[in-house]
Amino acid sequence: MRAVRNAPPDVELVDVDEPEGDGELLRVAAAGICASDLLYLEYGSREIAGHEFAGVLADGTAVAVEPMFGCSGCPQCDQGNFNRCQSAGPTALGMLSSGGMSEYFRAPRRALVPLPSGLDVKDAALVEPASVAWHGCHMGAVGPTTRVAVVGAGAIGILAVTSAQAMGVEDVALEARHRHQFEARDLIGAVAPSGHYDIVLETGGSESSLHRAVALARPGGTVVYMGVFGDITWPHAEAFMKEVALRPSLGYCAHQGRREFAEAADMLAGRPELAQTLITHRFPIEDAPEAFRVARDKSKGVFRVVVEP
Ligand SMILES: [Zn+2]
Ligand SMILES: [Zn+2]
Repeated sequence: MRAVRNAPPDVELVDVDEPEGDGELLRVAAAGICASDLLYLEYGSREIAGHEFAGVLADGTAVAVEPMFGCSGCPQCDQGNFNRCQSAGPTALGMLSSGGMSEYFRAPRRALVPLPSGLDVKDAALVEPASVAWHGCHMGAVGPTTRVAVVGAGAIGILAVTSAQAMGVEDVALEARHRHQFEARDLIGAVAPSGHYDIVLETGGSESSLHRAVALARPGGTVVYMGVFGDITWPHAEAFMKEVALRPSLGYCAHQGRREFAEAADMLAGRPELAQTLITHRFPIEDAPEAFRVARDKSKGVFRVVVEP
């Protein structure tokens, strides 16, 4: 089968055996490229790329794959918190183990989330980033009475706004920088930030966006960060003086008995404008190297680039 393999600094199209062994075989329909995939290349990964993907099982069921598998044998996994499984990191798809940017993929049954009607499998590469955003809202305890701002208007920022809206927040603020981001902000009904917020969701993944998030938080508020990782200067002084809680949010899991991956898929099904807006580019698998170049190019108005194997 054809697959896209990390070959830093780029990717390459390769011919590999179909995956064998345990788990369910799916025909992959779409795999998205996100900033993490670009980071994995920087880290020197040589695995098959892709952790945001969806496909169709042999019986015709369309599924998204929750790519943090966990070990399925520890207390965190028992509760559905695969993201907190200490074995989940070492098997990160597309980084440390084979990802889903290939014609076929084999996933454990527990990782499969059937798609709701109304969500096309070719749009379902968005379920993963939507789940990241959805989980971030849960980690910040977003609810109808909270004032919420989002910093960073990439795909996860847009999806964080619509997640907060789905949880009952009116007038979610979104800090945008580029023209396509302002257009998307209008389309989804978000507003420009003004004043201070109970909960600020940081999705920009940079030191400056984390500092901005703390600046937007009210004293005693919460900043949820889902994109910041690695060596940065933390905004300790301002967070301390305002007693702002800095809350990490990693991936997605089961929240109060409900699976965030399934809830995020429902959100996408209910708002078809999200896939139309956020999937800005689609490429066949043979053009994957070009797809990665486009995903890197910030000048092109990119939200998500999707490869269709
Ligand atoms: Zn991602
Ligand atoms: Zn585990």
